[in-house]
Amino acid sequence: MATGWNRDHESRGITQGGKISQETFIDTYDPSVLRREQYMLYEIKWSNNKRPRQNCCHSTQTEHAEIYFLEDVFQKQRSDPSAHCFITWFVSWSPCGDCCKQIRDFLKEQPNVKLFIYVARIYWHKREINRQGLRNLMNIGVSIRVMYLPVYRYCWRTFVDKEDKYEDYWPRHFAPWIMLYSLELQSILQNIPSCLEVSSDENYTPVFSLCVEDEEQKRALTSANPY
Ligand SMILES: [Zn+2]
Repeated sequence: MATGWNRDHESRGITQGGKISQETFIDTYDPSVLRREQYMLYEIKWSNNKRPRQNCCHSTQTEHAEIYFLEDVFQKQRSDPSAHCFITWFVSWSPCGDCCKQIRDFLKEQPNVKLFIYVARIYWHKREINRQGLRNLMNIGVSIRVMYLPVYRYCWRTFVDKEDKYEDYWPRHFAPWIMLYSLELQSILQNIPSCLEVSSDENYTPVFSLCVEDEEQKRALTSANPY
């Protein structure tokens, strides 16, 4: 069906009404499992419009969710170019280095846009291109944080389809992973070497080890306040 709206980015686990299914959210935003799929829950608020737009999308084999958002979703949403716009993304993986470059170019052309990014996990966190990409975003004013428990709660209430399966959702067992990813994000943004080893076993369960040897790194990390 040839519509301007590319449904490929809103097909798997997303309802017609633009909500993510409970199963998909629980599965893809769990930081204790390394799922490949990249999902994005997004919120766009305009200064001249009280109702925010809230919706969901995912990456396809050929295009990451971030690029789909910038090139399709945002372009269809914009009206008055002088209005200020606040965009919040809740992504299951942090943006890759290539997406960070495009996000940066986009924001340079859109000085009225402020972007907040919450990530459930950090994408290939040891690759310098990805680390530098996140730092570059921070340097132009993008807020990047790891999703913490109240944020999961907010996403559940806002973006997840109301089904009968699960009434409530409070993923307490995420806390250690949230802490580890927060420490790693802190070291990325402060440009100090990674202290986190994440590998996975055959069940996609991450195996973490933390190795902090350097005194400067230790100081920087203990001053981190992920919450
Ligand atoms: Zn990407």
